[in-house]
Amino acid sequence: MDSVAVPPQFAQRTVRGTARCEGIGVHTGRWVSMTIRAGRPDTGIQFVRSDLPPGLGIIPARIELLAGVDRRLVLANVHGHTVQSVEHLLAALVACGVDNATVELDGPEVPTLDGSAREFVQMILRAGRAHQRRVRRFVVIERMIAVRRGDRRAALLPSDVPRATLSIEYAERGIDFQCISTALDEETLQRDIGDARCFGFLDEAGELRERGLALGASLLNTVVLDEGRAANPEGLRSPDELIRHKVLDCVGGLALAGAPIIGHVAAHKPGHALMTDLVKALQTHPAAWSFVRAGAAPLGGRNRLRPPG
Ligand SMILES: [Zn+2]
Repeated sequence: MDSVAVPPQFAQRTVRGTARCEGIGVHTGRWVSMTIRAGRPDTGIQFVRSDLPPGLGIIPARIELLAGVDRRLVLANVHGHTVQSVEHLLAALVACGVDNATVELDGPEVPTLDGSAREFVQMILRAGRAHQRRVRRFVVIERMIAVRRGDRRAALLPSDVPRATLSIEYAERGIDFQCISTALDEETLQRDIGDARCFGFLDEAGELRERGLALGASLLNTVVLDEGRAANPEGLRSPDELIRHKVLDCVGGLALAGAPIIGHVAAHKPGHALMTDLVKALQTHPAAWSFVRAGAAPLGGRNRLRPPG
């Protein structure tokens, strides 16, 4: 059934041409070239390390391969080879509705560019998108799934459309409570979320560098916060840039589910650990969601299929 004509609104998508960029990895400080190419149907997003021998550097963007959540997402394959800082690129691919793609890198980290997903979105849209002869599938949340880590909490709730409601506060650093509730459709992600840059606190920079992190961070790719204010000469892109970036990170983390999630993600003090806990909780709560083909209603699990991969 899947291989006959698929109505375009229900079809999986990949990139039509190739998209290329190069830049510094924000944590390794290494210069990396990246090329996004078309991926085969039903294969999802796969990273390929071109600096490693053929076959050893294939790293699918799947929760099973999660190897680190400290300041960025790290994935590792069975050979122990890693790719890190994948979250903003994964969010850009979600924002462009790309289901399948191969992301070639000649180093261990996705280039950070300006610290947001804006340039990734632009390069994917420039490369164009192509429909494939397979039906898209979604993870449809049917019952609440909740996780917590200390005072950080997150939940996935049923919703007809993808949404996020997030709140943050860094009272000890002069950042007051901030809250956002937004749709996560492609247009909103591209227009309102994609340009929000990652941020860090000036008083943490030394400790991060001692741990071998943030070696490529600068005012060119990070909003640096000093006593609640952006130290960057241009300031913030908008008053809510910090929490909009949290939405971006959240979308990138949830992308490790391997299929778009139809549900409402709600979180207080979200971070990479909390979001990937939610994705892991999908696996331990199989009765809380269905795997549904585009164009089919969930109907109480009648369309339940095998999870992707
Ligand atoms: Zn981020």
